[in-house]
Amino acid sequence: MKEGMTQRQDIPGENRFDVIVIGGGSAGVAAAISAARGGARTLLVESAPMIGGELISGISMLGCLSTRGDWIVGGVVTELLDRLKPLGGYIGPVFDYRALHLVCFDTELMKIAVMQAVAEAGVHLRVQAFFCGIETGGDETRVRLMHKGGEAWYAARVVIDCSGDGDVAVAAGAPSEKGAPGTGALQPPSLVYRVCGVETEPLLRFVRDNPAHFGLGDYPGLGMDARQCAEALYAQGQPKVLLRGTQGLLKEAIDAGEMYPTSVLAIVPTSTARKEVSINSTQLAGVDGTRAASLSEALPRLMAQVSQGLAFLRRRVPGFEQAALAAVAPKIGVRETRRILGEHVLDEADIMQGRKRADGIAKGGHELDILAVDGHRHETIAEGGSYDIPYECLVPHGQRRLLVAGRCISSTREAQSSVRVMGTCMAMGQAAGTAAALCALDDGWSGDVRDVDRARLRRTLIADGAVLEGTL
Ligand SMILES: Cc1cc2nc3c(=O)[nH]c(=O)nc-3n(C[C@H](O)[C@H](O)[C@H](O)COP(=O)(O)OP(=O)(O)OC[C@H]3O[C@@H](n4cnc5c(N)ncnc54)[C@H](O)[C@@H]3O)c2cc1C
Repeated sequence: MKEGMTQRQDIPGENRFDVIVIGGGSAGVAAAISAARGGARTLLVESAPMIGGELISGISMLGCLSTRGDWIVGGVVTELLDRLKPLGGYIGPVFDYRALHLVCFDTELMKIAVMQAVAEAGVHLRVQAFFCGIETGGDETRVRLMHKGGEAWYAARVVIDCSGDGDVAVAAGAPSEKGAPGTGALQPPSLVYRVCGVETEPLLRFVRDNPAHFGLGDYPGLGMDARQCAEALYAQGQPKVLLRGTQGLLKEAIDAGEMYPTSVLAIVPTSTARKEVSINSTQLAGVDGTRAASLSEALPRLMAQVSQGLAFLRRRVPGFEQAALAAVAPKIGVRETRRILGEHVLDEADIMQGRKRADGIAKGGHELDILAVDGHRHETIAEGGSYDIPYECLVPHGQRRLLVAGRCISSTREAQSSVRVMGTCMAMGQAAGTAAALCALDDGWSGDVRDVDRARLRRTLIADGAVLEGTL
C-alpha cells in the first residue's frame, strides 16, 4: 500500500478522532475550534489549500448584528474578530444605510487569524483533502477522503457536515431539497474580487450627490429617506456602497451592454491601508454548485465578468479611476444548493417573525435575502430583530452520529437565504462542535446526537460567549 493510504477495514489510531468536521468554512472552523476546546480529538477536513471558505473570499461578515444594531452572535465569532485587531485587519461594523450592519475586515489577515485560531485550539487538519464517502452504523462513523498520498479512511464518534452543500449528509442517505420548490431555481453564484487604489471621499461624495443610483434606506424603521441615508453614509466615511441592477448607473450600463446582467454591485471595504474594497457583483443564472461540470462551465464566464466589472468601475464610478485588481476569490462563491432535512425545518415564519425558542442554540438576524440575476427579494426581520435556531435544524433525519451546520442546515429556501450568512454559520458551527464534543466524550452517550443534554449544551454555549438570550 502506498504511503498515506489506509483501508476502510484497517483505520490506524492516528486516523481515529472523537469528532471529524468536513468543510473548513465559517461553520466548519467554528465547529472544529469548539469541539477541540470541548476536549474532543478533532479533525478538520478542507478540500481547498487554505481554510476559511467564504471567510477568505473577500466578503464581510453579515449576521453578527441585527438591523437594530444589537450584537446577536459572540463566542468564536468575536474571538476571531478580536484576533484581527492586533494584526491590523479589523475595520469593524459598517452600516450600509440600507438595512444591514456588515463586520468588515482584511481578507488576507483573516487567513492568518483563522489559521491561528484553529492551530491554538489543537485542531488536527487535512487540507487539499476531499470528502468522498461515508459509512455509518456501529459505534463510529467512517469517512473516505481523497488527498495527497491517495485515498484514506478516517473514523470518528461524531461527524459534522460543514461542506455548505451537504455532501456528507447526502452521501450518508439523509433527505435533502435543492433550490426553489417546483422550479429548482438556485440563487446565482458570484466570483468576488478585490480592487485596490480606491479613493473613498470622491466615491462617497458621488453617492451623497446622486442617491438615486444607489440602494439606500430599505428599512422603514430607519425613518430616513435615500438622501438622508446618503448623507449619513458620507459621514460614516467607509466605502460601503450598493449599486442595483434595477436603478440608476448600473441599470443604464446593463441596458447599454456595457455591463453584464446583474442585480447588484456591492462595494465593501477590505483594507484601509491598501485603499482596497471587495466587489460582489458577478452573477450567472442556472449554475449548480454541486456539479463540477456546471461550475467549470461558469468559471470562464465569471472571470470575463470580473474584467468587465473592473472596466465599468474605472470608467463610471468616481474614486475608481486609478483602481487596480488586487485579487480574485480562490473559488466561485455558491449561495445556494442543498438543504438537508432534519428534525425541525426552519421556515419563513420562524425568521420573519423573529421567533424565540427556549431551546435555541444560535441566533440569526440577516434579512430574507434571495438574489436572482434579474431581481432581489429582501425583507427585514420583524422590528429589525433576531430569531432563534433550534438544535433540531442541525440534526439530519435518519442519522445518529451526524450533525450539519452552515448554509445547508434544515430550512426552507426562504429561511436558508437568511441563515446562510457567515456570522450565523459560525454561531451554528460553534453549537454543532460543542454538541459533538459533549456527545463524543460522554461515556454514557446513547450514540444518537438527539440525546445530547440540551440544557448542558446551552449552558456551555453561553459560558463560551454565545449570544442565546437578551436580544429582541
Ligand atoms: C458571492 C457571495 C457573497 C456573499 N456575501 C456574504 C456577505 O457579504 N456576508 C456574509 O456573511 N455572507 C455572505 N455570503 C454567504 C456566506 O458567505 C456563505 O453562505 C457562508 O460562508 C456559508 O458558510 P459555510 O461554512 O456553510 O460554507 P463555506 O464557507 O462555503 O465553507 C464550506 C467549506 O467546505 C469545503 N468543502 C466543500 N465540499 C467539501 C468536500 N466534499 N470535502 C472537503 N471540503 C469541502 C469548501 O471548500 C469550503 O471551504 C455570500 C455568499 C456568496 C457566495
